[in-house]
This record gives sequence, structure tokens and C-alpha cells, in this order.
Amino acid sequence: MKQAPIPYGRQSISEADIQAVVDVLRSDWLTQGPSIEQFEQAVAQYCGAKYAVAVNSATSALHIACLAAELGEGDTLWTTPNTFVASANCGLYCGSGVDFVDIDPRTYNLSVAELEKKLVVAKAAGKLPKVVVPVHFSGQPCEMERIAELSREYGFSLIEDASHAIGGKYQGEAIGGCRFSDMTVFSFHPVKIITTAEGGMVLTNRKDLYDRLIRLRSHGITRDPAFMEWESDGPWYYQQIELGFNYRITDLQAALGLSQMSRLDEFVASRHRLAARYNELLAELPVVTPYQHPDSYSGLHLYVIRLKLDRISRSHREVFEALRSQGILVNLHYIPVHTQPYYRRLGFKPGDFPESERYYAEAISLPMFSSLSDEQQDRVVAALKEALS
Ligand SMILES: *Cc1c(COP(=O)(O)O)cnc(C)c1O
Repeated sequence: MKQAPIPYGRQSISEADIQAVVDVLRSDWLTQGPSIEQFEQAVAQYCGAKYAVAVNSATSALHIACLAAELGEGDTLWTTPNTFVASANCGLYCGSGVDFVDIDPRTYNLSVAELEKKLVVAKAAGKLPKVVVPVHFSGQPCEMERIAELSREYGFSLIEDASHAIGGKYQGEAIGGCRFSDMTVFSFHPVKIITTAEGGMVLTNRKDLYDRLIRLRSHGITRDPAFMEWESDGPWYYQQIELGFNYRITDLQAALGLSQMSRLDEFVASRHRLAARYNELLAELPVVTPYQHPDSYSGLHLYVIRLKLDRISRSHREVFEALRSQGILVNLHYIPVHTQPYYRRLGFKPGDFPESERYYAEAISLPMFSSLSDEQQDRVVAALKEALS
């Protein structure tokens, strides 16, 4: 009998999640109802951040976070090439330039040593970045304490792209608390740790940023007389005081997210149990298993191995295809962003960020999601053993 394929990631939906969405459907509010604030408060409280703004995707969240940081024409945003294109595109949406900082070969996160070097050069050239977006790759936080020191020294804003990392910790504190950044962004896409189908959120401790994020989410409109440019005409009145968007999330989605929050710790704990099991089962194979920085507890969105290609007779692509042909739906995170055609047209080329390109030539994301069974995981390991032999 042919077995069902195993995806690299997927959502976990309970009866309680379904009931939460159905309850909203039977209520008076499908959007802009009470669930959105409840969801925002639950995430803010969990993370220890003062404010949270839920939106319809992490891509939208990154966009309005960049605008709130006043990124615009003539500025530059720096991020890592080892990320989803959205972490860089948000800079382009604002009319800013984009540049990259190569990765650390152990954590696959933006390298702090490379960041320091690049800042020295940029300062001399008068081209310091306005915003840096560290991405907590696979859920493992970047070295935020040191990056925050650099942000003060060189005067740039910090937006954490924590799309992989809700439920994780840095120096014992929940990721999202923004102790070392201006804002933190989460994604609630179904492959991520908790889901709202599509959805994202920005967290911050700064009231001024919060006020702007709220406006930018909804057309740049305010109903608060304190922000109006002249006195209100009456109870119906609102003012558009800047150019915003419709990036609102629905109450259906927020109710799902709120319900998922009650199982967040459980989800991340399952991922850690599976990662420990992978580490053990793969120990003798010609692969590099993920490094865990002692400062942090990863959200473990991804479990990425690197092939020791000098010790196997097959190519990276052959191993990948062999796994896929066995119904193991492995994936590759990420194609270095600077090598995408769109970014090449902006002047980037292969060779610009060699560590991220070396990583790309060896990496494979194995299935990792909270409901992955031991039996399924054993199938993944058996298929990988065969693919490597
Ligand atoms: C998934 C992801 C995004 C985009 O998230 P959406 O919610 O799909 O817009 C951005 N950055 C990273 C690192 C991601 O993994």
C-alpha cells in the first residue's frame, strides 16, 4: 500500500479551534469585532510586549513596521539573504534600497561579525542602513543583545522578523518582547508555529509606533481627535492623515489564532521532542544537524540538515529528489534572496554572499510539525538513509 506523503510542515487544528471559528460565524462581527483585540492581547501578554497589532500577513506586518520606522526613499534596509523574499521586499515597498549581510555558518542567521564589518565600511561611505531586519531563522533567535548595541552605535532601527520563532526564548525571555528591538513581526501562515490561515502581527513597546501601525493597517485613518488636524465634525467623523492600506485581519482568523495560542507551548515542546529524536537518529549519517545556541530556546519552525557532500556519492539535488520520490516532501529554506532574478536586476549577483550560497548548496528541510508521529519520522529517517547510501 502506498503511504500518504509527509509534508515538511502543516497546521494542527483541534475541535476547539473549529468551534472558536464557528462561534464567530454565529456572532454579529465577522471582522473588526472583539476577537482581534483578544488575540492581540493574548500574544502581547505571552511575549511581554506592551502593544500588538494583528494584520492579514507577516508581509503586511513587515511593510507597516518599515513605514512606522520611517523607512523611505534614499534609505537602505539590511537583512539576511537566507530568508523568505518578504523580509527584503518590505524595504522596496517603501521605496528604500535593500542590501544583505551574509550568514553565520553555524546558526544560518545573519552574522554579527559580518554586520559589524559592513557597518564600518558603510559609515565611512556615509551609507548606513536606516533599518536592519534580523530573521530568527528556523526559530533560533539572532544575537539580539549585540545587534541592539550596534543599532545604538550606528543609529538604525531594528525590526525582528520572528516569523519562525513564536514560542521561542532568547536569554530566557519570550521572543516578541522587543527588549532588544523596536518591533517584532510574527507570521501565522499554516506552516508556521500557530496559524490564522493567513495572518501576521507586529509587537512593540513604543506607543508612537503602535499609534502609527494601527493607522497604517486601515487606510491611514484615525478616529482619535488627539491625532486630527482640526476639530472633529461630529460622532461620524474620521480623518485620513496619511496613506495607509487595508491590511486588516478578520475576526474569524483572530478567533482561530486566539484558540491556537492556548496550545503554543505544547506545539513548541513537540517540535523540541522531535528535533531531539532526529538528532539522535541522524547522528551517524553524513549530515550536519542543527546547531542550538546556548542563549536560546528555538521556536523550531524548521529542522534543516546540511549534507556532507564530500562523504556521499550523490548530489544534493539527487538526495532531495530521492526523498521526494519516497513521499517525503522535503523543502529548501532558503534560495538566497540576492540570487533571485528580481534582485539580480537591482545589481546583486551570485558570489555576493558566499556563506549563504554554500549553505543553499547543501541544505534540506526535513518534515517538522507538532503532529508528526514517531512512525512518520522513522519513515523520513529510513528514506534519508537510503538516499544517502
Ligand atoms: C513566512 C515568512 C514571511 C511571510 O509571512 P506571510 O505571513 O506569509 O506573509 C516573512 N518572513 C519569513 C522569514 C517567513 O518565514
